[in-house]
Amino acid sequence: MNEGKSALYTVASWALWPALFAAGLIGAGWAFHTGAPLLWFNVVYLSIVAAIAGFERLMPYEQEWLKHDGETFNDIAHTLLTKGGVQLAAAIGASAPMAIATVVQPAVTSPTSIWPDHWPVFFQAVLGLIIAEFGLYVAHRAAHEFLSLWRFHALHHSVERLWVVNTGRFHVVDSLFKIALSQIPLYLLGAPLPVFLWTSAVTAFIGLLTHCNIDVRTGPLDWIFSTPRLHRWHHSRVLAEGNTNYGENLVLWDQIFGTYFNPARRPPVEIGISGRVAEGFLAQLVQPFSAKGFRQILGRKPPSLKGHPASGSPRQARYEPSGNPELE
Ligand SMILES: [Zn+2]
Ligand SMILES: [Zn+2]
Repeated sequence: MNEGKSALYTVASWALWPALFAAGLIGAGWAFHTGAPLLWFNVVYLSIVAAIAGFERLMPYEQEWLKHDGETFNDIAHTLLTKGGVQLAAAIGASAPMAIATVVQPAVTSPTSIWPDHWPVFFQAVLGLIIAEFGLYVAHRAAHEFLSLWRFHALHHSVERLWVVNTGRFHVVDSLFKIALSQIPLYLLGAPLPVFLWTSAVTAFIGLLTHCNIDVRTGPLDWIFSTPRLHRWHHSRVLAEGNTNYGENLVLWDQIFGTYFNPARRPPVEIGISGRVAEGFLAQLVQPFSAKGFRQILGRKPPSLKGHPASGSPRQARYEPSGNPELE
């Protein structure tokens, strides 16, 4: 991938993923010790967003995914203006799990006292991450295998290029489902608040990095973390490639349940879904709730056209949970 590039470029492509992840975690650690942890976490988060956005322009993985930003000054100015709002929303979205845990955790009395709260915080956070990741894996896989959930998750997959701004593009129902499945086991086990804060911080920064359009190399990290390379496969239009790599932070559960996918080819540039997602923020929010919107998301024709020889696209059946041998 880096043939003909300078040595500095090669070093940067190997160093950037660990460096940006570490910078985010160090910043989060500092934010958690201030008097306003959520506020300062958001500042750190936005700083990492800005750094990623800069590196996307310096060393993009896919030129095609940069193109639509436009080259002229006006385009750039508009991009900065509109993205400023999007990124603020993304930061608030990224810290939502922390905000929920900050309110809920002190109010919940765990039915058990088996959480090892005498362990160093680092090991408690790793344990919390592995447990939360199981909930994230189940929620994400279910969102791909059940149409009742895919109707919400399709919004995330409707993007046709991957870059840092895609990170927060989740339907609120999709997000709440994932937060619930990842946090409820931790509440039940009696995990303390720092575990929630750290698992949320890791999820926030890995989420930014998995969607980045930077030409990073991750090598052996692909065996542990959900890296950009693995997540680019997850966004593939090809069902057999896209219904893999469900891990949000760690790929442990993909490896255990056989959904890990990392062939030696370059992940696809052509990404997206066969259905159609509404234009406009509010329209996208309400679309999954109507029968018509649901049909649009699935790329299905209205019932009156059923049986028409021209109805449906070849990829219409993508994500059908039944009748498709590629989905178990
Ligand atoms: Zn997905
Ligand atoms: Zn994604």
